[in-house]
Amino acid sequence: MTETKKNKDDLDNFCEECNSEDPSVSQNFIMYGYKICVSCKVSKTIFPV
Ligand SMILES: [Zn+2]
Repeated sequence: MTETKKNKDDLDNFCEECNSEDPSVSQNFIMYGYKICVSCKVSKTIFPV
């Protein structure tokens, strides 16, 4: 069988800003609703859009 066990609620850890994988991405997504890594979060905090 080629059934994939992909859970739709499964979070990947790829940052939408820099596309790098980091465990902090899913944490930030849960806490802030943004799939961003910690370094992108810091830069957004310092330079808010
Ligand atoms: Zn990033």
